[in-house]
Amino acid sequence: MSQSFPTISDQKQPQAWAITPNSQALAQLAKGIWDCAVQTNQRPLVVLSTAGPLVGVRAALEQNRPKDLPSSIAFLPQVISFTDWLEAAPGAWKFPKKQTDLERWLSVFVNLRKHKTLQAWFKAESEAGAWGLAQAVIDACDTLSEAVIPQLQGELNELLQTHALDTETWLKKVELVLDQAIAKAYVGLSRNVVDEESAVLLTFWRYLSSVGDPVIRKHLAMAAHMQLAKSNAENQHSNVRPFIWVQTADPKPVDQELIDRYLNEYAQYAPVVRGDLDWGSVALWSEALCGFDADGHIASANPAEDSQVSSNIQANRHDDWRLLAARRFEELAWAATKSIESHLIAGKKNIALVAQDRLAARRTRALLSRLGSALRIRDETGWKLSTTRAAAAFDSWLELIRAPKEGPSASALLEFLQNPHFDLPYSLNKPPEACIGLLAQLEDILIASQAKSGWETFLMAIERANKYAASNGGSPNEHLIDLIKFVRRLHIAWQHLSVDCSSAYDLLQKNLKETGMAGRLESDAAGKQLLEVLDSFNLNSGVYSNLKMRLPEWLSLLKTVIEEATYEEAGKEAQATLSILPLSSTRLRQFDAVVLVGCDEQQLPAFSEPPLFFSDTLNRYLKSSTVAAQYVQQARDLSQLLVSCEQVDLLWQSKSKSGEPLRPSAWIQRLQTQLKDWKAIEVKPETYEGKSQPLQMSVSVPDKDLAIPVTVSPSAYKALRDCPYRYYVSSLLGLRKAKEFEEGFDASLAGQTLHALLKTFFQALKTEDEKSHSPIHDGADGRRQWMIEHLMKCSENEFERLIAGDARVLGTLRDWQKQIPSFVDWQIQRENEGWRYHDAELTVGFTLSLSDPDGVQRDIRIAGRADRFDIHQSDGNAAAVIDYKNQKMKKIVDRAENILDDPQLLIYARAASENAVAAHIPGRIVSQAEWVSLRADLDKGGDKSIRAYAVENMPELMAEFSEQITQDLNTLWARKPMQAFAPDSVCQYCEARGICRKGMW
Ligand code: SF4
Repeated sequence: MSQSFPTISDQKQPQAWAITPNSQALAQLAKGIWDCAVQTNQRPLVVLSTAGPLVGVRAALEQNRPKDLPSSIAFLPQVISFTDWLEAAPGAWKFPKKQTDLERWLSVFVNLRKHKTLQAWFKAESEAGAWGLAQAVIDACDTLSEAVIPQLQGELNELLQTHALDTETWLKKVELVLDQAIAKAYVGLSRNVVDEESAVLLTFWRYLSSVGDPVIRKHLAMAAHMQLAKSNAENQHSNVRPFIWVQTADPKPVDQELIDRYLNEYAQYAPVVRGDLDWGSVALWSEALCGFDADGHIASANPAEDSQVSSNIQANRHDDWRLLAARRFEELAWAATKSIESHLIAGKKNIALVAQDRLAARRTRALLSRLGSALRIRDETGWKLSTTRAAAAFDSWLELIRAPKEGPSASALLEFLQNPHFDLPYSLNKPPEACIGLLAQLEDILIASQAKSGWETFLMAIERANKYAASNGGSPNEHLIDLIKFVRRLHIAWQHLSVDCSSAYDLLQKNLKETGMAGRLESDAAGKQLLEVLDSFNLNSGVYSNLKMRLPEWLSLLKTVIEEATYEEAGKEAQATLSILPLSSTRLRQFDAVVLVGCDEQQLPAFSEPPLFFSDTLNRYLKSSTVAAQYVQQARDLSQLLVSCEQVDLLWQSKSKSGEPLRPSAWIQRLQTQLKDWKAIEVKPETYEGKSQPLQMSVSVPDKDLAIPVTVSPSAYKALRDCPYRYYVSSLLGLRKAKEFEEGFDASLAGQTLHALLKTFFQALKTEDEKSHSPIHDGADGRRQWMIEHLMKCSENEFERLIAGDARVLGTLRDWQKQIPSFVDWQIQRENEGWRYHDAELTVGFTLSLSDPDGVQRDIRIAGRADRFDIHQSDGNAAAVIDYKNQKMKKIVDRAENILDDPQLLIYARAASENAVAAHIPGRIVSQAEWVSLRADLDKGGDKSIRAYAVENMPELMAEFSEQITQDLNTLWARKPMQAFAPDSVCQYCEARGICRKGMW
């Protein structure tokens, strides 16, 4: 039972006050605090051990303000959390400088370098893992300090009396005391820890502990407060402000001892009241009632305590506690959403969603977002800053910095450039209109050329695209080159930087400004918080500012710190508030209704990750938090929650992912044994019925307003032949899948390079042929030798830049160089048949005239770029077209079998024959066409057939093809239905598959 506030006496020891943690707890607290003010005629100082109930206590104080208070105590009593109280210690400015988290991590790093014994430990860790381990080391060192430093309290108190000394001398004294204490404790602790891991940790502790540690500052702050109380008491002889300590959560044993001792001493100078929570009438389970025995184990209940628990359950049972079981995850989130909705409909304004199952809570939150701004959602579970768009944008820049000196991958580059915080016009110093579509164009070029990584590769791809655009009536875009050069400049600066903490920070800030990201992040809520986190890296005046490290180490430190940071959403006024919070945050807070998701046996209770270094036994020895303590605390928190709130929905998923049944938490089952009528309700989502029509094969009739292209490339015509529907989607609707780069190097840009080098080589051969004294005329062997050498050299030259961008291309070059002798043999054989290289890379085309259904005359241009034309030496009318294929012969043979569906060579042949002047072969007809493989199977010998494959029956095929293309284009212009049909081999790589829904019909 709750006790009324004690009568303040001057017995110079803390007075106990028991607070019942039920729905009236805040009112009881407030009344007691006012009572203290009235009794002592002083404004008491109230310190809460945790900050959660702060707002509630202040509000309750306001509501319970006694009438007719004398003016001296009319102000609201001061209520403050323990952490804030420490920060407000008198003379805190003189304390040793507080180390930031970052500085503490860096101190681990420095000690690792200094002490060989510690290094072995971190060897196996990646950079990110090492920083994570550093964090665990710091936590463990704090645990050790917490166990040891309380014994120093007396000395610290004394030291504070010499506070008047100059700060430096005083700090030296504090340091000395700490060193002595640690050295002494180290010997004692070493005896107790035998394993190597703990021994290394103790070594760390010895090296890392400093006067700037939070534990030391905490004790200094407590001593400073004590000092003030003492001097006040001595100066005024009486009437020192009363001090009320409210223990809102179970303390760790070490903290319990500390605060007990502290309050006892404080009571010598001021009235002290210690408020503890009394679980007598609230505990719903024996562990919540009994806590721990003297050995630190969970105490077992005696019969009287058992019956107390039983009567608590009966007395506190609310009719509106509901048990809701859902079978699947989605159903669980849906049921939680419905629960919250029903509370909102019932007019509840302040609702809690306890995220025992964090995933389900997140999903519920997403489902609730459709309620819009009428519901304010406050997520107290710690939304990670790293999950925000701003952090992802920033991360894309870090990935770019991390890239090797040759340059990033194209996906990393595009990821960065396409992030919404990158200000393209600002970066290039160009008007926004000039930048419209620039990134899309860059993406197109990189994808089309399969330029996958490296600055040189990107530049080459753009230069090629610009050159092509210039020679084909398009407009080259120089801004693309500027853009690549801009990012490359920023990237190179990192490669040349000798990284120390402050120069890396300065360069990063400079980057953010130059890319316009600083400005854009500043105007974004998460971005602003991200910039604040980055500010913590500004170590300009600190001891670690010149600390050198490798770039990957610094980057992963940066990433780890961002990963640790939480994002706080800005609150908005709304008709109702939903707080998403962990169970521990519900302590001494009031809600109109509570929904608890994740009440299954696996998630309730939930234990925090065990510390990396200490066993539970060692933790008990160090009087730190143990698994048992967490268990008892959660039993108490849940008891308090159920007892204080009438409307509590307890939800869980009754089937695990693997399909195994999941029972509710043991605590719920134990309550059910006492509350026989408290049954779980199986929730099922509302289902709607409807009839669907089976899907039919997709067919589309082009709308009369849909423009039909008047130019057709060989590949577009192939698409039309393969599947009209696919042509409809890609060429008429212009839909294109957002492409991604596949892993591994694709030879496309290398393929283009091969084409280019062959052209260069054959032009050189032509010139050489005209020189009468050239070694090329020294018989067949001399000619062969010359060709091999020059082709080798040409290849090295053309590939040089590509290799500078991506070293993996070297493999492609070497493969090609192996092909050269056999390729030259094929060329010589061809020359022996009378064929001579004539020209390469020529755009050729022909025009088809047809009338559309409206009788309008349409000229359709069929055009493409032919790889090479040869002419016959002895037949003045004969010419040949050649298409190089960077593929195996087998594929070429397959292609030849279906030439009418992929009539690229026939298109070139007709185009060159019809317009011989444009093809630079005036007076000749293309009578021969062949594919030449650049990846022949060399182990199949030197036979010509391993490299070239000629089109057979050219004249018949040409006639058939001409008739076919006329008919196809007439059908297209007649806007006849375009059906989806194609063999699976075509559909397998079709981008339109998601639209035609092949597989559904
Ligand atoms: S998936 Fe097959 S049927 Fe469908 S559009 Fe593509 S090629 Fe045609």
